[in-house]
Amino acid sequence: MFDYLKPDLQIASYQQLDVGMLQRAGIELLICDIDNTLAVHDEKLPGANVSEFVRKVQAANLKFCLISNNREERVRQYGEALGVRSYAFALKPMKHTYRKILNDFQVDAHQCACLGDQLLTDGLGAKRMKMLMILSQPLSEKDIIYTRINRHAERWILKQFEKR
Ligand SMILES: [Mg+2]
Repeated sequence: MFDYLKPDLQIASYQQLDVGMLQRAGIELLICDIDNTLAVHDEKLPGANVSEFVRKVQAANLKFCLISNNREERVRQYGEALGVRSYAFALKPMKHTYRKILNDFQVDAHQCACLGDQLLTDGLGAKRMKMLMILSQPLSEKDIIYTRINRHAERWILKQFEKR
């Protein structure tokens, strides 16, 4: 039942992502979550490691954008600091914002990879869109309450994969 949600790739953090592998797999756009994937929750601006990561992605000829369920101001500020497009209040795992991204970047779903820390928002959203799903471990354990509830469910689901 949960096979549908199984990540295509699991990594410890964004810094571990093999962008060359993505490029060789025909990926053209990396759609990346912000909170707990690149930033801890109260971190307003990207650190040097994040800027370096984005430059590495772009140097591999991949396009890059940010997708977040967080509010407009926070997401715009973070995206502008990196010089990349950002999509706030995305309502992941709903499809609406992903569709907008496909249209804006003129790519197909199979040319997209999604990187995020939450199986039930980032992961489910990517799967519903038939995009490559890369799950990273959350940067910080200090989560807002509904995220924390999702995490319990996630841990249980990921454990089911391990059992097989
Ligand atoms: Mg997140």
